Amino acid sequence: MADQVTLVIIKPDALRRGLAGHILSRLEQLGLEMVGAKVLSVSRALAEEHYRHLRDKPFFEELLQHVQGKLHGVGYVLAFVLSGPEAIRRVREVTGATHPEQADPLSLRGSVGRMTTQGWMENLLHASENEAEARREIALWFRPDELRRPVVPRRSPARR
Ligand code: UDP
Ligand code: MG
Repeated sequence: MADQVTLVIIKPDALRRGLAGHILSRLEQLGLEMVGAKVLSVSRALAEEHYRHLRDKPFFEELLQHVQGKLHGVGYVLAFVLSGPEAIRRVREVTGATHPEQADPLSLRGSVGRMTTQGWMENLLHASENEAEARREIALWFRPDELRRPVVPRRSPARR
């Protein structure tokens, strides 16, 4: 099994509900190496760049508010870079499908995620979808000196 790196964000909805420890202990059971970990406030620019693939969706503005903690009154998130065999697939499996009701009932989103009566999706955490996204996201969320070792290859000079 190939080693992979992945970015996990414990979002403000999870922090508001005191679920950070629960989420971390499920992730910890995967036995992955922790390469980076930090708490940070998410700027609008970071949120827009992170979710740029969704910028045309009707829920984009709400998503930006959500990850910035403006819907939950928690102005920060926890971010982790995890590494190990099939890390992307295995973290996504524990995370579960995007919509809490459609997620495997034993996954994090399926067991403790929810839709609120306001219609907000509380799916608790972000987990990178594939290797290209993981590299892009890690470079976006972490400076090289915040990682215990380099995991994102330096960009090679553009070829002409
Ligand atoms: N999202 C939403 N409504 C939707 C789809 C997505 O609010 O119909 C939010 C949700 O917080 C989700 C995030 O947008 O986690 C990113 O969407 P993506 O499709 O990348 O889902 P994920 O990779 O997080 O499962
Ligand atoms: Mg995604």
